[in-house]
Amino acid sequence: MSLDITLKRSIPVRYDVDVLVVGGGPAGSAAAVAAARQGRSVYLAEGHTCLGGMGTAAMVPLFMMFSDGVNFLADGIGREILDKLRAAGGTVPREGHGIRAEILKRVYDDLLRDAGVNFTFQTNLIDVQRDGDRVTHAVFAAKSGLFAVRAKFFIDGTGDGDLCAWAGAPFEKGDAEGNLMPGTLCSIWANVDWDAFRQSKTNVHERLLDAFRDGVFSVQDRHLPGMWPVGPNLAGGNIGHTFGVDGTDERSVSKALVDGRRMLLEYERFYKQYIPGYANMDLVATGSLLGLRETRRITGDYELNLADFKARAAFPDEIGRYCYPVDIHASKPDPVAYAKFEQEFLRDYRYGKGESYGIPYRTLTPKGLANVLVTGRCISCDRYIQGSVRVMPGCYITGQAAGVAAALALERGADTRGVAIPELQARLKKLGAFLPNA
Ligand SMILES: Cc1cc2nc3c(=O)[nH]c(=O)nc-3n(C[C@H](O)[C@H](O)[C@H](O)COP(=O)(O)OP(=O)(O)OC[C@H]3O[C@@H](n4cnc5c(N)ncnc54)[C@H](O)[C@@H]3O)c2cc1C
Repeated sequence: MSLDITLKRSIPVRYDVDVLVVGGGPAGSAAAVAAARQGRSVYLAEGHTCLGGMGTAAMVPLFMMFSDGVNFLADGIGREILDKLRAAGGTVPREGHGIRAEILKRVYDDLLRDAGVNFTFQTNLIDVQRDGDRVTHAVFAAKSGLFAVRAKFFIDGTGDGDLCAWAGAPFEKGDAEGNLMPGTLCSIWANVDWDAFRQSKTNVHERLLDAFRDGVFSVQDRHLPGMWPVGPNLAGGNIGHTFGVDGTDERSVSKALVDGRRMLLEYERFYKQYIPGYANMDLVATGSLLGLRETRRITGDYELNLADFKARAAFPDEIGRYCYPVDIHASKPDPVAYAKFEQEFLRDYRYGKGESYGIPYRTLTPKGLANVLVTGRCISCDRYIQGSVRVMPGCYITGQAAGVAAALALERGADTRGVAIPELQARLKKLGAFLPNA
C-alpha cells in the first residue's frame, strides 16, 4: 500500500548567495574555490562529513594522471591541491599519487576556507525550486532542520546530478539496458610489507585464478584493480566489485555496503594466503561512502563521445583537455565482459604521450536550465567519455571551469549560455588551464 502526502512547510532562506555549489567532491570543491576567487559569494553544501567525495570519504587510494606525459592538464586548482597534498606529506609518490585521505581532507578544508567559501557538512539537497528555466532555490535537510538557499547561479557537484535531475534536466544512466558500472567499497589495511611484496614479483592476477580454483571466492570477479601504498606499511584497497548497485537509490547502496564489507573477508583470505607481504595485513577501515563509478549523466548542449576521444577532438569552446583511457568496469563478473574491458582499457581507447581530447563548455550546460552548470563525473557525455573524465584530475578541470564560468556570467548579467567563451578561456588560461586551441 502506498500513501501520498503533500508536504507544505514554511522554511527559512538561510543563505542568499551568488553561487550555490551542491556537493564538495573534487569537482564541487574546485568549482566553489574558483568562483570565490573570482570575487563571488559562495555557499557549498556537502551531504557527508568532509570535502573530497570519493577521494576521501570513499577512500579511493590514488589520483589518476594529471598530465598527458608532456602537458599538465589539470592545472590551476588541480595542481594546487596536488602540491599542497605533497607538501603536507599526503601523497605516496612511489607508484603514482597514493592518497592519505585524512591529510587530503585537511587540504580541502583549508583551500575552501582560505578562498572564502562558506560550507557546511551533513547538509543534503532534497529539493529544487524552479521558475521557468531558472532555478531559484535549493532546499536542504540538515541537523538543524529544513532550510532553503537562494542563489543566482547553481553548480551541481553531487557526482550523481541530483540538482540537475531534480530541476528537470534530462539524463542518461548506464548502457542501453540500464546496466551500470559496479561500485567498490574501498578499504585501508595496516601491516603490509611492501618490500616483501615487490621483491616477490608476484603476478597477482595469476594468483587470483589459483584462488578461484581453490574456491576462495563466492563470485569469480577477474577484475582486481588492486592495493596501493598509502603509507609506509599501509595499503589502500580498490578490491572487490558490488555488481548491480544503483547509486541513486539508498536501498541499493545499503545492500552494496553490507555486501562490500562481507566480501572483504574473502579478499583478506586471498591476500594473506596467496600474496607475499600481506600475511599480517589488518583491516583498519572501509570507506564511509560507497565508491560509485557511475550513476546519471546529465544531458547538456553537447554530448562528448567516443568519436571525439578517437579524434583527439578540439572544440572552439574548449575549457580543458584530458587523456585518461576509457575505463568502463564490466557490469557483470563474467570472463567475456572482463575481456571486453581489457581490450578497451588496455588497447583500444588509450592515448600515447602528449595526446588528449578537448572538453567543450557545452558539456557543463544542462538542457533546459539557464543558471545551472554541471561538473565532475556526471557531465554531458557518453559512457565511454564518462569512463575517462570521471577520474579526479578530470573533475578538477570541469569543476574549475564551472566556477569561473558562473562568476563571469554573473559579472556580465548573462545566463550560462551568454558566457563569452574567449573571456572564459582567457581567465582559465590565467589560472594555468591547458588550452592550446584557445
Ligand atoms: C572505487 C573507485 C575507484 C576509483 N579510482 C580512482 C583513481 O584511482 N584515481 C582517480 O583519480 N579517480 C578514481 N575514481 C574516480 C573518482 O574518485 C570519482 O569519479 C570522482 O571523485 C568524482 O568526483 P565528483 O566531484 O564528480 O563526485 P564525488 O567524488 O562523488 O563527490 C560528490 C560529493 O557530493 C556529495 N553529495 C552527493 N549528493 C549530495 C546531495 N544530494 N546533497 C549534498 N551533497 C551531496 C557527496 O557526499 C560527495 O562528497 C575512482 C572511483 C571509484 C568509485
